[in-house]
Amino acid sequence: MTGRGLAFLVAVCSAAALLASCTMSGALLRTSAGNALRRNSVAPRTGLLPRRISGVSSASRNPHSHRLSRSLRARCSTAAAVTMELTSDVLKTAEDYPMLIDGKLRQGSAGASPVVNPATEQPFACAPSAGMDDLNDAVAAAKRAFPSWSKLGYDAKVAYLEKFAEEVKKDAESIATLLTKEQGKPFASALGEVKASADRIATVSALGPLEPEVLHEDEKTRTEVHRVPRGVVAAITPWNFPVLIAASKAASALLSGNTVVVKPSPFTPLSTLALGKAAERAGLPAGVLNIVAGGDELGKALAEHEDVRHISFTGSVATGKKVMATAAAGLKRVTLELGGNDAAIVLDDVDIEPASRKIFQASMANTGQVCTAIKRLYVHEKVFDPLVDALVTHAKNARVGDGLTKGITHGPLNNKMQYDIVTGLLEDAKEQGAKVLCGGSAPEGPGYFFPPTLVTGVKEGVRLVDEEQFGPVLPVIPFTDVDDAVARANASPFGLGGSVWTTDPEKGAEIASRLETGVTWVNAHITGDFAGKPPPFGGAKMSGIGREHGRAGLEEYTDLKTIRVAKKL
Ligand code: NAD
Repeated sequence: MTGRGLAFLVAVCSAAALLASCTMSGALLRTSAGNALRRNSVAPRTGLLPRRISGVSSASRNPHSHRLSRSLRARCSTAAAVTMELTSDVLKTAEDYPMLIDGKLRQGSAGASPVVNPATEQPFACAPSAGMDDLNDAVAAAKRAFPSWSKLGYDAKVAYLEKFAEEVKKDAESIATLLTKEQGKPFASALGEVKASADRIATVSALGPLEPEVLHEDEKTRTEVHRVPRGVVAAITPWNFPVLIAASKAASALLSGNTVVVKPSPFTPLSTLALGKAAERAGLPAGVLNIVAGGDELGKALAEHEDVRHISFTGSVATGKKVMATAAAGLKRVTLELGGNDAAIVLDDVDIEPASRKIFQASMANTGQVCTAIKRLYVHEKVFDPLVDALVTHAKNARVGDGLTKGITHGPLNNKMQYDIVTGLLEDAKEQGAKVLCGGSAPEGPGYFFPPTLVTGVKEGVRLVDEEQFGPVLPVIPFTDVDDAVARANASPFGLGGSVWTTDPEKGAEIASRLETGVTWVNAHITGDFAGKPPPFGGAKMSGIGREHGRAGLEEYTDLKTIRVAKKL
C-alpha cells in the first residue's frame, strides 16, 4: 500500500478509543476514509474554557491527524488514494511521547496523530494531539510560572538550563533516532542536531545577563534602561530542524526571564516532545516550559491566545503572514524566521575544488531542506563549466537512502507535500527548457527520496529560480558582470542569506555587503566558526522580522523599560 501517490488513511479516535484499540493485541486497525471513521468516531470536545481559545481542531493541515474535522473527513472520503495502516503497536506509542504541561507529562485530550517515516511512507508512532483544555492549561501554567521565574536570579536560571542540557545529552542517541525516523535526515546529522541543541541550551548563558544600562546619573537624578521579559512566549517550529529550533527558542526565551509553550510541526513532533521528558527529569519548575503537540490549528490557537505576549515563529512566509495578522489583533510581539531563496555568487578567480565541495554541501545538506541553503547559484561564465562538472561529481557520489542506514549522506524529503513541491518545480523548469545534469527523478519504491539534482538552462522568470524549492534541486545560472549578478540576487522578495565565493576575501566582503540579506558569507554558506560568539540570525525583506541567536536573540524576548529616578522631591 505504499507508493508515492499514496497519502494517508486516517482513523478517528479519542484518547479513550486509542487505549481501547491498544488492548486489541496484534489487531490491525485498517482504516479507510469511511468505515474506520465510524468505528472510533468521537464528537469534538465542546464546552471549552470561556474567554480563552475555543474551537481547535487537531486535524487542520495535519495530514496524519486522528480526529478529523467534518470538512477534512469529506475531503478524505473523496480522495481515493487516502489510506494508512495503523497497528495497535503504533497507536500505543503515543503513551511514550507525552506532552509536558505544568511540569507533568500527559496525553492529549484530542486523541493522537500518527507520525510517518518519510523513508518508508509508513506511520511508525503516534503523538498526542492537544485539545483546547490542554492548550489552555499549558498557557495558564506558563502564566502562573512567570512571576517567580522572571524574578529568579540569573545564576539559578543558568543552573536549570545546564541541568536541562545534561538530560538532553543523556538521551541524545534515542532522540536522534526518533529525529531520523520522523524527519528523514541521516542519523549522524540527527545526532549532531541533538548535541548542538544541548550545547545551545547550556551555552546560551554566555550571552547574558542583560544588565540595566545607566544612561545618566548626577546628584539629582538617575535614568536607567532595563530589559524586561514579556511573559508567555509561544514557540512555533517547522520540521526541518525541529529539535535545534525548539531548543534555541526555549533557551533564549527562558534565560531572558520568559516562560514558554512550544508547538512543534505535526510532521516532526516526537523529538521535540522528547525534550519535554528531559526538562521534566531536569526538574525545571512547573509551567516554565510546556510542550504541546498538534496540527496547524493548534499553532493558530496558541498564537491567538490572549495570555501569549510574544510569538516566536519559524516556518514559511505564507504562515508567517498569518501569524503576523494574528499578532496584530492582540498587538503581540513577533519574531518571524521565514523562508529564503539564497543566492550564491561565484567569481571568476574561485578555487574550484574546495568551492564546489562547500557549495554542494551548502545547497544539498538536509536534502536541501535548510532555510539558508544555497537555492540559486550564479557562476561567472569563465568558471561555469568546471564548477558545474565538479558539482555533478559530488552529486553522483551522494548516497541517498534511509537515514538509519550506515553511510547514507542524504535522506528523503520530509513529507509528501514537500516532495510534490520539489518535483513540481523541476517539471515546470523542464517545460521551460531546463537541462537536468544529474538526478532529476526519484528511485523506485516507497519513501520521499529525491537525489541531488543540478539544473542549467534556466534563469529568473522560471519558478525554480524565483521560488523557494526547499529541496535538492539547484539551478546554476551563468553571469558575466558582477554588478549584474548582485542585482539579480537582490531582485527577490526574499532576503535571508547569501554568499560570495572568491580567492580575494576583501573583494568578496565588499560584494557581500551589497546583498540585501540578513546574513552573508564569503567562501562559506550556512555554517561558520563563530569562536563562541554566535552572531544574530534572521532575514531581511520577506524572510523575516527580528533576530535569533547571539545577544540580540536574548534581547528579542524583552521589552525596554526606562526608570527615571528623581533623588529628591
Ligand atoms: P509552516 O509555515 O507550514 O509551519 C510551521 C509551523 O507553523 C508548524 O508548527 C505549523 O503547524 C504551524 N502553523 C501553521 N499554520 C499556522 C497558523 N495559522 N498560526 C500559527 N502556527 C501555524 O512551515 P514548514 O513547512 O513547517 O517549514 C518550512 C519553512 O520554514 C520553509 O519555508 C523554511 O525556509 C522555513 N524555515 C525558516 C527558518 C529560518 O530560520 N528563517 C528555519 C527553518 C525553516
